[in-house]
This record gives sequence, structure tokens and C-alpha cells, in this order.
Amino acid sequence: MAATVEMNKCTACGECVSTCPLDAIVIGNEPNKASVDAGTCCECGACVDVCPVSAIEL
Ligand code: SF4
Ligand code: SF4
Repeated sequence: MAATVEMNKCTACGECVSTCPLDAIVIGNEPNKASVDAGTCCECGACVDVCPVSAIEL
């Protein structure tokens, strides 16, 4: 399973975007939250570790 973002926790800080080695995460406008491209994510877990509000799960 690819990483998933819990929308109500994400503050759109961008930490996961700059951490993902595959550029699989983008911050959207509507909603202004991070989202993961499931087809690109390699499940490395880096975004899970870096998220300051624990909004990402694998
Ligand atoms: S688990 Fe790894 S590859 Fe997948 S979105 Fe997070 S940082 Fe990117
Ligand atoms: S690191 Fe966490 S809070 Fe920041 S944009 Fe990513 S999912 Fe949202």
C-alpha cells in the first residue's frame, strides 16, 4: 500500500514533499493538503518519519 495522508491532520507544511526521494507527494490547492501519487510511491517510509503531525501512514 502506498503512503496515505490523513487530511484533517495535514498542515501543508511541505516537509514530506521535499523529503520524498521519488517526488511522489504534491501539495494541492483545493484542498490545500499533501497527497501521494500511489503509483509512484515505493513505500520507503521517509515521509512518515518526517511529518511533524504524524499525518502520513503506510
Ligand atoms: S513512502 Fe517514500 S516514496 Fe512513498 S510518498 Fe513517502 S517518501 Fe515518497
Ligand atoms: S509533512 Fe505532514 S503536515 Fe507537512 S505537508 Fe506532509 S503530510 Fe502535511
